[in-house]
Amino acid sequence: MAAELAPLPLDLQNIESRSKSNPTEPAPSPHDFLRLATIMPDTLILGIESSCDETSAAVVRSGEETLSNIVASQIALHQPYGGVVPELASREHLRAIIPVVREALAKAGRSYADLDAIAVTQGPGLAGALLVGISFTKALAFALDKPLIAVNHLEGHIHAVLLEERQKGNHAVNFPVLALVVSGGHTHLYLASQIAAGDPGSGWVYENVGRTRDDAAGEAFDKVAKLLGLGYPGGPVIDRLAPHGDPTAVKFMISQMKHPDRNKRDSKTDQATSENPRPHFDFSYSGIKTGVLRYVETHNMRETADARHRALSAIAKPTLEDYLAHCDREVLNVVASFQRAVVDDLVSKTLTAARACEAATLFVTGGVAANSELRTAFERQAAMEGLPVFFPSRPLSTDNAAMIAAAAYPKFLAKQFAAADFCAEPGLALR
Ligand code: ADP
Ligand code: MG
Repeated sequence: MAAELAPLPLDLQNIESRSKSNPTEPAPSPHDFLRLATIMPDTLILGIESSCDETSAAVVRSGEETLSNIVASQIALHQPYGGVVPELASREHLRAIIPVVREALAKAGRSYADLDAIAVTQGPGLAGALLVGISFTKALAFALDKPLIAVNHLEGHIHAVLLEERQKGNHAVNFPVLALVVSGGHTHLYLASQIAAGDPGSGWVYENVGRTRDDAAGEAFDKVAKLLGLGYPGGPVIDRLAPHGDPTAVKFMISQMKHPDRNKRDSKTDQATSENPRPHFDFSYSGIKTGVLRYVETHNMRETADARHRALSAIAKPTLEDYLAHCDREVLNVVASFQRAVVDDLVSKTLTAARACEAATLFVTGGVAANSELRTAFERQAAMEGLPVFFPSRPLSTDNAAMIAAAAYPKFLAKQFAAADFCAEPGLALR
């Protein structure tokens, strides 16, 4: 019994993706140098993220250089349950937060005294999980007498792209940006603009032009993988198995939203409204999950899925070969067809929205942005429309604190600090 209750060792990974300056990159323009020299003394922000199932802390310099980005993933903890268990997530954040923050400072080679501000995810996310990060950050900021910055998790995913582009020396982004934020908890389209384009101290404004009406795309990946006995999280496994199946074998349909969303709310009054000046490009992924369930039942695949689940659970870290050894052609075809249907839907709706909103640039970010087929499809189809598309590197696609510290930087320059009594907001909207 005691052994069962023994906590798993913390697995702290530094996913810092600092890129050395690349000789093939264009040199920063004189304008960039001028800007850097005049208004950008080094600013060190400690970012803290605990909205779901990753405890993360990062030190980022001036919104453009990641000095450290430590992530303690809870995947192993939630794996036996096939999804994130909120109460377990909160407890694990509590256990991990101090070692993660200490490691982030040590890897960055900095001390608490070197920090200019501390930023934390305010929401959206799991209430108990957010509270751990927020309570810790408030206490730290109070003890160190440093400014506190509250960041929207979705804004963080958008700034993951900007952080890495700046790290590569690319400071020029054409506005408006259309950002697809797609993960296990979110599938949103935001039109994002900087109030004074190119000025790092300028605020950002976001307009939601699309969202999922039910399940997020990552949630569908996770549920379909569970249904097929492939374990948790489903996205990375499906990504690796899909090239081994035939994506045209099964026609899975994705619901198309033809009627206005009755639950849509006015962003200022929070009242339900039927009026909206811009068309919305909404997603729905609960139907395809049911489609896969029906297929599994009508093709008598349930028993083999259970046997696959048992066999794979007995292997500590299954390799691609282990997965392939336990998957027949039929399963591989379902996996490939499911992924193709989701990818086609995400790409076509995002590109339709980009045309309607006259977007100049596309960002694709969040855990599902790590998907290989999604990246290739976006790159190919956006190129056909002459639209530049940017993704974070794979480690920065999923939840991490460097993106929180990067999103906090313009707020730091604008002195947009949080009051000491700010609260976690599990349903925080981005505007
Ligand atoms: P959250 O924890 O809020 O869902 P993350 O950004 O950490 O946000 O994303 C995790 C989600 O991303 C999970 O649903 C996971 O299955 C999905 N995911 C991760 N890698 C891939 C991939 N290569 N392909 C598809 N989905 C992926
Ligand atoms: Mg996560």
